[in-house]
Amino acid sequence: MKSTAFLLAQAYSPPSWCPLIPPPHGRLSLAHLPTPLYPLLTLNHHHDNNKLLQPLAQHNIALFVKRDDMTGGIEWSGNKIRKLEFLLADAVSKDYSAVLTIGGAQSNHCRATAAAARRVGLEPHLILRTPTTSDDVGTVGNLLMDRLVGSHIYTCTPGEYGRLGSEILVQRVADQIERHTEHKVYRIPVGGSNAIGTWGYLQAVDEIIQQQQETTFDHIVFACGSGGTAAGIVLGYALAYEHGALQRMPKLHAVGVCDDPDYFYSYMAQIAVDMGFSVANNDKYTSVEDYLRQHVTLHQGKGRGYAVSTPEELQFSVDFARATGIALDPVYSGKALYHFWTHVLQDNMALFTNQNILFWHTGGALGLYDKCSELEESTSMLNGSPCQKLDVYGKGNGLDISG
Ligand SMILES: *Cc1c(COP(=O)(O)O)cnc(C)c1O
Repeated sequence: MKSTAFLLAQAYSPPSWCPLIPPPHGRLSLAHLPTPLYPLLTLNHHHDNNKLLQPLAQHNIALFVKRDDMTGGIEWSGNKIRKLEFLLADAVSKDYSAVLTIGGAQSNHCRATAAAARRVGLEPHLILRTPTTSDDVGTVGNLLMDRLVGSHIYTCTPGEYGRLGSEILVQRVADQIERHTEHKVYRIPVGGSNAIGTWGYLQAVDEIIQQQQETTFDHIVFACGSGGTAAGIVLGYALAYEHGALQRMPKLHAVGVCDDPDYFYSYMAQIAVDMGFSVANNDKYTSVEDYLRQHVTLHQGKGRGYAVSTPEELQFSVDFARATGIALDPVYSGKALYHFWTHVLQDNMALFTNQNILFWHTGGALGLYDKCSELEESTSMLNGSPCQKLDVYGKGNGLDISG
């Protein structure tokens, strides 16, 4: 076997229910798939740590989780690698030698892009939005991975980002890199959310259909940040249902962690149109955006703003971790599930009685490292996790922990 054989993109054929034409350059095998999908224990009489989930048991609501936080190791786990399988296939097939993308300082997308780029032999360049005016972004959380894999990092302030926009920033920095180096730079938009990357989540819908042939989900809940994941999931489910691969259309709940719902409906529509999706022959819908609006509910879940957490949101992640053993992240999955839980589920328990809910965990745990002091100061995390110094040489050989 030639040592480069695994770098080649494989031809990709879409699921049988999908009439859209896939991107021409196929797909790389980067993610660890299929990711686990299982039900959470909602009743556990031996512990009161799952008070959070007990109301679900009382209403006979089953909660399942799809672990897309487990698509890989610490380097490229999370939802972005599904998009990068298609995006980087495009890049390597066209002989690019470097990749440039953009995001917040704790961007999971930038971290996954940088590590996956190294995996396939591309040089990673990242533009990171940070209020820091010095040229030192530090090494906390995702930044540790960005720097470990040797990313070239360029920073801009939130104000500069807002004024120029991410597309212009990417274009200008890519032009500069090409002017000053030998590299040909592949440009990936925020979150990898374009017509190529979104195929990752269209394909992921087929993965769930294959995995759960007996269980039908009544509700599917997931975080929405740049729109590509939501666009792929919504198109995937809608097309699978229309073409007979699903008995029932689940209710889809995308929880926006930035911007607002109208922005996401129109951005998803743009992606769908770019993917070749059309409602021209279907008089049930006035536009692609109308089609999307009829198949997904976008909930407002940004709270105090992108990547800013309230004590309640963080406390929810602590409670959830205690009840399930699963770490949610503060920016996406934790916020999304908290807002769904408190503003949709809790207020309408009766509506959800006897139903199956799937939470699609999209990753992001490295972002927790950026919130350590908030977790310590404004949640019950430390109180609920006692820590004692052993009196190793004292009475009872240090085995007496009765206090
Ligand atoms: C990027 C991201 C999302 C949102 O996905 P989009 O496709 O950008 O909407 C959700 N969860 C995590 C952990 C992410 O990093």
